[in-house]
Amino acid sequence: MKKQQNTGEKILRRLEKAGHEAYFVGGFVRDFLMGRSTKDIDITTSARPEEVKELFSRVKETGAAFGTLTVLEDGFAFEVTTFRSEARYDNHRHPEEITFSDSLAADLARRDFTINQLVMDQSGRILDHHGGRKDLEKGLIRAIGDAEERFEEDALRMLRAFRFQAELGFSLEESTARALHAKGRLIAAISIERVQDELLKLLPAPRARLALRSMLDVSFAASLFGSVEGVRILAASPHAFDAVTAFALMAVVDGLDIETWRFSKAFTKQVETVRKLHEATRDGGFTPLHVFETGKRACERADRVNRLLGGADQRERIRAIDERLPIRKREEMALKGGDIAQAFKVKDKKHIGTTHEELLRAVLEGRVENDKEALLREAARILETKEDTD
Ligand code: ATP
Ligand code: MG
Repeated sequence: MKKQQNTGEKILRRLEKAGHEAYFVGGFVRDFLMGRSTKDIDITTSARPEEVKELFSRVKETGAAFGTLTVLEDGFAFEVTTFRSEARYDNHRHPEEITFSDSLAADLARRDFTINQLVMDQSGRILDHHGGRKDLEKGLIRAIGDAEERFEEDALRMLRAFRFQAELGFSLEESTARALHAKGRLIAAISIERVQDELLKLLPAPRARLALRSMLDVSFAASLFGSVEGVRILAASPHAFDAVTAFALMAVVDGLDIETWRFSKAFTKQVETVRKLHEATRDGGFTPLHVFETGKRACERADRVNRLLGGADQRERIRAIDERLPIRKREEMALKGGDIAQAFKVKDKKHIGTTHEELLRAVLEGRVENDKEALLREAARILETKEDTD
């Protein structure tokens, strides 16, 4: 962390030497004052993007239209953004066009929360235009200026308020909370991808349940997820959960359709798997086949969903099954479908596949050894019952 900061200070000095103003801003300063470590460092500067590009050899154009460049230095990445002033906001979203500014004050005024507008210069001096330090000490999330106006300009700020709550455990300052209540419905104007990015940070954060509780208190949950019962259950959960589990629970309780969101294929599939596992196990419990087919992690998530809905704790059972699984992949079966076709005169070809499935289950449940001879004997027995009943 110290090394990253030193490199950052080097960048600030180079910008200043070239006649510009430059400061650390945002998450880094906030986390620094709280004694926490940060992943990335944001820098705000009076230098225009072209001027920043000239000063550093490795620069990526991450958001050049918004005045943001990524400067790579000593193996670290820094988001360097040119001072901006308030610009036109379209339909409660991020401005389509932006206006660069020479004024730090203007740049700080356009930021979302008081705790996010603290800046630090290369010598470690903190500048605070909007009482951010006091709010940081009090643990308050307070919009800069008129909260309702700020949420009207960019409705994503509302979700960011809850996200910072989830990460920091802060409270919502009163007028900010009132504005969240009044403007909550505007979140529908925000692109689902931006909403998802925030949710993927919010849900696994240490104080996510506090944030969900606040969402319910200010009637934001319904606007965000379309339903509230699942959020209520999550907010009251005695344990933390991850985003997959949270969405699976909402799918079960509120009929939330994960396909209408735009999460990655992998994430969507995980949510569906956990939802189905819940359906399959809420009455009967987890079997070796469940653990084999979906993996321990998905079963643990489904168990969490089950428990949140009043089901029994089956973690120990899942762990024991997983530890004892004789095989982890279908390819590890000592007898293949082809072997069954070769060894027996199977009249109805579909019996080959179903027999193989039964053998797999028998192996997983420890009823038959995963050994070719033993499996052939068992296959003969299964086939006899099948082909007789036809
Ligand atoms: P993190 O720890 O997640 O990086 P952060 O506060 O640095 O938190 P970023 O998304 O990296 O958040 O944004 C950097 C800074 O840009 C914020 O601290 C804030 O000052 C400003 N900012 C970001 N998004 C908005 C927004 N929608 N409206 C106003 N200001 C914003
Ligand atoms: Mg940041």
